[in-house]
Amino acid sequence: MKKYDYLIVGAGLFGSIFAYEANKRGKKCLVIDKRNHTGGNIYCESIEDINIHKYGAHIFHTSNKEVWEYVNSFVEFNRYTNCPVANYKGELYNLPFNMNTFYQLWKVKTPQEAMAKIQEQVKEANIVEASNLEEQAIKLVGKDIYEKLIKGYTEKQWGKKATELPSFIIKRLPVRLTFDNNYFNDKYQGIPIGGYNKIIDKMLEGIDIKLETDFFANRRELEDIADKIVFTGMIDEFYNYEFGTLEYRSLNFEHEILNEENYQGNAVVNYTEYEIPYTRIIEHKHFEYGNQPKTVITKEYPATWNKGDEPYYPINNDRNNNIYSKYKELADREKSVIFGGRLAQYKYYDMHNVIEQALNTVKSEFKEDK
Ligand code: FAD
Ligand code: UDP
Repeated sequence: MKKYDYLIVGAGLFGSIFAYEANKRGKKCLVIDKRNHTGGNIYCESIEDINIHKYGAHIFHTSNKEVWEYVNSFVEFNRYTNCPVANYKGELYNLPFNMNTFYQLWKVKTPQEAMAKIQEQVKEANIVEASNLEEQAIKLVGKDIYEKLIKGYTEKQWGKKATELPSFIIKRLPVRLTFDNNYFNDKYQGIPIGGYNKIIDKMLEGIDIKLETDFFANRRELEDIADKIVFTGMIDEFYNYEFGTLEYRSLNFEHEILNEENYQGNAVVNYTEYEIPYTRIIEHKHFEYGNQPKTVITKEYPATWNKGDEPYYPINNDRNNNIYSKYKELADREKSVIFGGRLAQYKYYDMHNVIEQALNTVKSEFKEDK
């Protein structure tokens, strides 16, 4: 008899949901994380009584009712709607690309005028089939928007020329012929009142947790501790990089406490020119409509990833997707290891995707109907 039914590697969203659901079904779980806190990348730290998104701004959005009801069963959400502003060389534009942006750029006032302007630019570019991000972007919104709001941001974010990047990255952003600054098209959106830690703390209540514990530093001993492992770390590391190293893009966060109440008037301001080394400044209090006397801002600097750095964004190009599919073949054959989450599945997942994945994994693990 092993001490635990499940060893869960990683106390992020995936690991915490699995632990919560398994515990609810009477299974004994141990959750480990190499960091000194739970929550993975959604972890918040309170500074000046403001919840700071330590690993980058996190805005919850989904169209999946089950997922929305699930998160709301742990915490109440506020009505926050993400409406980022872009700053290009001191000019301000609304995002995502909508009638406000088109008016600011071209002074066009009707959808017909905006459409005509975009079509004129798309026609000039003469792109039949977009084969990379640059072509995809120009095909979608024309050259002016591409040059001012996409090219610089994208190239510093990914450390590659837009012509060398896959087009799917840009398909995440909506283009609208309405005066609607909502960054997402989803049905439900918000920020947990009191921060994301509330969700994770509730999920992990009563479950054994060991922090500052790296699976790979204690692998032998840990593999013996439970009947099954739920692994949410890097899949290539699990297999000792035998098919090669998967690449990531990393980030450095520079947090500053400012002695003023309101620094930029919005939670998210993107800096879209290449010459400014950060991609965005987050002013955290605006996620929760805070009126504290001070404010905390975070500048987000994209960075080259080397082994040992935090792996924030998987780079889903052909090279990496091929390597991943080899690891996945091995993973699919495992009888007592379950792989889940952003790192183990090597996907650019948002939180709602991870929740959906985790709930599906729970259903199939415990043989319940999907
Ligand atoms: P993680 O949160 O990464 O958790 C994995 C955990 O495993 C980590 O705590 C890690 O320390 C631990 N771990 C890894 N290896 C080991 C090991 N060997 N031993 C022990 N522990 C280990 N999603 C949205 O929906 N909206 C957003 O606005 C949004 N913004 C984002 C902004 C940024 C900058 C980033 C990077 C992501 C953003 N996301 C957003 C995505 C969101 O963070 C993820 O979908 C979600 O947090 C992933 O959860 P996870 O459990 O898969 O992974
Ligand atoms: N993007 C851009 N300009 C912006 C914001 C985003 O060109 O002002 C592009 C960029 O390539 C980025 C992608 O759109 O990687 C997706 O943006 P999103 O805001 O979804 O990125 P995330 O929040 O996941 O970093």
